Amino acid sequence: MTIAGSDSGGGAGIQADMRTFALLGLHGCVAVTAVTVQNSLGVSGFQEIAPETVSAQIRTVADDIGIGAAKTGMLASAPIIDAVVAQCTDSGIGRDTSTPLVVDPVCASMHGNQLLADSALDTLRDKLFPLATVVTPNLDEVRLITGVDVVDTDSQRDAAKALFDLGPAWALVKGGHLRSSDHSPDLLYDGAEFIELNHERIDTTHDHGAGDTLAAAITCALAHGYSVPDAVAFAKEWVTRGLAAAYPLGAGHGPVNPLW
Ligand code: PLP
Repeated sequence: MTIAGSDSGGGAGIQADMRTFALLGLHGCVAVTAVTVQNSLGVSGFQEIAPETVSAQIRTVADDIGIGAAKTGMLASAPIIDAVVAQCTDSGIGRDTSTPLVVDPVCASMHGNQLLADSALDTLRDKLFPLATVVTPNLDEVRLITGVDVVDTDSQRDAAKALFDLGPAWALVKGGHLRSSDHSPDLLYDGAEFIELNHERIDTTHDHGAGDTLAAAITCALAHGYSVPDAVAFAKEWVTRGLAAAYPLGAGHGPVNPLW
């Protein structure tokens, strides 16, 4: 299940998640949190879904269809995060359950449009992170959430430790925005071991939805029974190929295209 926002341009959000779920052989279910008004040039507005409607979507699917693994993307506000935390807890979704939860702490679009209220950061950190099997922030999100500015391998390790201390079973610090590097170094940490994942950097401006696609592929691999390190390694390969096959769309940034 994806618990996330809709992208009218079809590149990111629940549309990217559902594409990945289907391509990886899984039936995807959705709890929509917000409807964004968006094209390849950015997000021009969004409407939040009522928190009780978000919980009802999760509950009604869990009670009938069942959920193999879940991910969160855009959550928009503190009341929506509270509703998601309460319902996931009630429905047995999260770390230390048989239904893993991937938390992609979406704060803004690549164009800088805010997708999470500033007032929701504490709720994200204090209530949702402790429920996560793995959190997958990019470097801007790491700075907002932990205050750590990642500029090199040492600070990336500090960030991973700071994220882990917030309570997830694993923290993934995505290095894709470390522009100085020719590689895209991601770092995964479980409080004991650092695992580095290096992939070639794909030089493209068509990377809309890359973060969502990575988190969705991790979710699928977890649903298929992979361990977290294997799921992340698989998803990284998936999104790297998706970036290599990304296509232009509109006048701005086209979407990743994980059709391989
Ligand atoms: N819109 C929605 C609904 C999203 O969930 C996201 C990212 O998670 C975005 C837009 C931003 O995607 P990008 O950072 O690729 O612009």
